[in-house]
Amino acid sequence: MMINKLECKDHEYIVDLLTVEDNGSFCCPKCGMTISPEDETQENYTIVNTKVVNDELGELVVACGKCGITIILTGFQQI
Ligand SMILES: [Zn+2]
Repeated sequence: MMINKLECKDHEYIVDLLTVEDNGSFCCPKCGMTISPEDETQENYTIVNTKVVNDELGELVVACGKCGITIILTGFQQI
């Protein structure tokens, strides 16, 4: 089992996908660049980590391709 402790959140931002637009894109909390998880080219972001819960995507950790901050995407189960 993976241990999913997130103890260092100083440079991490959490985005709940329930609060973003229908197409799943959102703006980087720091630099404002639009990031779309459905953009498979990953030009605007880099997937750092994924967390699977009950065979479903629970969290997606990405790094902004422009400013490099870590953004944690949550709320996949509710979609
Ligand atoms: Zn950014």
